Amino acid sequence: MSQLFRILGKQRMVTGRGGRREVAKVDPGSWLGRHHLELQWSLLIAGLCLRLLLVNSSTLGLGLLLLFTAVAALVVGWAYGGKAWCQYVCPMAPVQAILTGPRSFFGSPAHFQTISKLTQSMCRTVTDSGTVQSACVACQSPCIDIDSERTYWSSLKGKRGLNWAWGSYPGLVLAFFLIIKLESRGGLDYLRSGMWAYDNAVTEYAWSPLVTGPWILAVPRLVAIPALLVFAAWISVALQGWLQQLQERQLTPDFGLRAQAMALHRTRLLFSFLAVNIFFWFADPTIGLLGPAGGQVIRSVALIVSGMWLHRGWSRERATYVRESTSASLRRQLQQLIPDLSPYLDGRSIGELSAAEVFTLAKVLPAQISQTKRNIYGGVMADLFGSGRLEHATALVQLEELRQSLKLDDDDHWAAIQELASQDPRILDLTGQQREIRSLRQDAAREAMLELLRLTRTDELQHLLADPHFRGSFSRIRRDFLLDDASWQDLLGSFGPCADSVPLGETG
Ligand code: SF4
Repeated sequence: MSQLFRILGKQRMVTGRGGRREVAKVDPGSWLGRHHLELQWSLLIAGLCLRLLLVNSSTLGLGLLLLFTAVAALVVGWAYGGKAWCQYVCPMAPVQAILTGPRSFFGSPAHFQTISKLTQSMCRTVTDSGTVQSACVACQSPCIDIDSERTYWSSLKGKRGLNWAWGSYPGLVLAFFLIIKLESRGGLDYLRSGMWAYDNAVTEYAWSPLVTGPWILAVPRLVAIPALLVFAAWISVALQGWLQQLQERQLTPDFGLRAQAMALHRTRLLFSFLAVNIFFWFADPTIGLLGPAGGQVIRSVALIVSGMWLHRGWSRERATYVRESTSASLRRQLQQLIPDLSPYLDGRSIGELSAAEVFTLAKVLPAQISQTKRNIYGGVMADLFGSGRLEHATALVQLEELRQSLKLDDDDHWAAIQELASQDPRILDLTGQQREIRSLRQDAAREAMLELLRLTRTDELQHLLADPHFRGSFSRIRRDFLLDDASWQDLLGSFGPCADSVPLGETG
């Protein structure tokens, strides 16, 4: 639903920089860009209240809620490009972030991706020729669908509303089921069977007290249910804070300055683990169809898989991720610049090497290829800079291990920076987020242009650019991927000097 207006080419257009009309996108500095998590979490709590008060047991209520959701997705999809509905409004997006953590148990590690640019759940499309290509317009940066672990580490601190959402989630899940249990006065089997969804009397007593007893407890359900959910969320957040502090105290002797981030990371993992298992304790997804044993099997599988997920993430740190990212880029550069690596690999392929082994491989390269080493260093830097994984201010420190492996010094680093700036004059002026957005959009637009070249069976982009029949196609690519003038010209330049000279700024 949210992509309908994009498919019809009827999304809301605004006047962008340079006076060009372009599809509106959510500005990260706007109210929605800054507060979307608080909005999404408020919608989630409102949705839980609605379910308990009305929707769980009213077909009409459920139908209206689904209809309202579909219309909202449609409107947001018209108003903003990309997956703005999923990223900025849908309450399930933060839930996805909490349940995924650094990476889902069966998810592939995006930062190791060496061949395809399509990673994890990245937006993609199937072209007329049947190939799958990126449809990413970089509506969110970093994006959980492209690289969940990158998004996880970059939002570990400083992402408004995320800590509260994460901490409150197990409390909300627990309170949701306990309220149903309290009202139905049924046991666990009643909850697991899903029979409560057939109790349509619940909708009729919104003003009745939640529990009978002294007058002080006789609060109408309409008030008591939201209050109880928020209270449970608040208790859960307080528990998260206490657990985090406890861990920080224990970790400080071993981890020093890293203890705070480590404690936060481990507390979040524990809370995700708790939320998943509380959910499966109360809910049987088969609603009893497989009998009590079937439900028990599902609960056990959830416990084992979430336990393995917890174990995998427990010792990870941001530094581990950054090191692995750099090693993946180094691996690509080694493959490109040194055609025959077999003498160093002892029968293995470079893809089989661990991050540490890739750095060791760089160390044993012979001294005679010193220029190649500088090229490798420059290539890794360009790769990390271009994708927004490296900041100008921290690059010297972040790439220290790589320089040591390649036996290069700080002067080589500054020479590589200069070389990079001469090839791409804008690169040092853009922030990491802006570089990532530019790279994602250009990559997706490049794939669309290559597909156009394939379909028209031509190798020369400038012929197509000069052909009036294809002006509409190029305009659409540029509009679909929200490229500004400079990014568009950079992209054309990457196809060769001839394409660069065609005045495509006029295609819109
Ligand atoms: S950033 Fe790209 S991949 Fe992520 S949701 Fe937006 S369009 Fe899809």
